[in-house]
Order: sequence, then structure tokens, then C-alpha cells
Amino acid sequence: MSEVTEKYPLDTSEQRLTVKEPVPRHDTQGDMDENERLRRAMANLAKNMNRTTATYMEACVHCGQCAEACHYYVQTGDPKYTPIWKLEIFKQAYKRESSPFAPFYRMLGLKKKVTTEQLAEWQELLYDSCTMCGRCSLICPMGIDIATLVGQARHGMFKAGLIPDELHAVAQRAREEGSPLGATAEVFEDRADWMADDIDTRMSASSSST
Ligand code: SF4
Ligand code: SF4
Repeated sequence: MSEVTEKYPLDTSEQRLTVKEPVPRHDTQGDMDENERLRRAMANLAKNMNRTTATYMEACVHCGQCAEACHYYVQTGDPKYTPIWKLEIFKQAYKRESSPFAPFYRMLGLKKKVTTEQLAEWQELLYDSCTMCGRCSLICPMGIDIATLVGQARHGMFKAGLIPDELHAVAQRAREEGSPLGATAEVFEDRADWMADDIDTRMSASSSST
């Protein structure tokens, strides 16, 4: 049984074949301490913050139209799956640390510091609950590119070693072997030979005439 099938078993006793709802996971990579994780995530957020992203963070009028565009929210009706909520902790960090009224937010305690627990909780929202389809960005009347912001938030999570283990494994394989699926030059050549046999054609992966 593959690791994925083990984690998300098919429920064959259901009337319709279905997959059991996955339990939210909080995977971590690396051995840095919690403060370092938080520092890295926030440093990356600050690095990606520019006039455009700051405008996006300020522009939301909470109309809720993006919610209706997101299949995760539409299917579950759970407010935590609304697109703008997926960015909430990054918005919270922006308001507290970089926005024009940041000193007031801090002084009056209106925006609390983001915690590592929140980052862990948001892993499910940023990775398992967004396909980056961009429907929310298209429908937003304020032109907020939510999908791009989710991408930036994911980058911060990656820097902090807070991404799903499977994704980390794929990235590692791409770095070490040059291919996320482990398709090395040898594998490719084998496959080319196999295809050549199958279709009865002369074909060589290493030949420039292929
Ligand atoms: S559609 Fe745009 S303005 Fe409306 S709640 Fe979503 S992000 Fe905010
Ligand atoms: S980009 Fe993500 S948040 Fe936006 S509609 Fe698609 S799945 Fe939902």
C-alpha cells in the first residue's frame, strides 16, 4: 500500500466510493527552533512586500465575492476556506509591522504578533485548500490578486520549513536528481527504448537525430 493510500484510505463502505476527509497536518522540515521559523516566515513576507502587495493588503472591502468563487468554500460553507481568510495571518503581520498605521496597531494591541501555532494552522489553508486557480483574483472588484499572494505566503512557509512533507520530498528530489518525479537521464533513456520497442521504431534518447 502506498504512503498516500495509507494516509487517505478509500472508504468503500460509503454508498458512493469516497475518500475519507484528511486530518489536517502540520508538517515541519529542518531542525530550527520555533522562533527561527517565525523569523524566516516574516522576513520573507517583508522581502516580498512592495507597493502592489501593500495595496492589495489595504484594498479589501470585505465584500465576500471571492468566497463564492472558491470551490473549497462553496463545497464546505466553512468561512476558514474563504480566499481572503487564507491570507489573514500575513495581513495581520503586514498591518502590525509595515502598514502606515503599524505603530497604532501595536500600541493599541489591535493586531497581535503572528505565532508559530498560527503558521502551523495555516499550512492546511495555504497548501491543502487552494489550487491557485485564480478564480478569486478574477472576481475581486478591488483587483486583489489573491492567488499570487497565496503563492508569496507559500514561499514564506517554505523558507520557514513549514510545507507538506510530500511537497518537500518532491522539491528535494528535483534538486538532487534534476527531476521531481525521479526521471533521470537513465530513466528517460530506458523509457525511450521501451517506447521504440513498443511502436517498432528506431529511437535513441542520446541520438541527436531523435
Ligand atoms: S472579493 Fe476582494 S474585496 Fe471582496 S472580500 Fe474578497 S479580497 Fe476582499
Ligand atoms: S486561487 Fe485558491 S483561494 Fe482562490 S478561488 Fe482558487 S482555490 Fe480558492
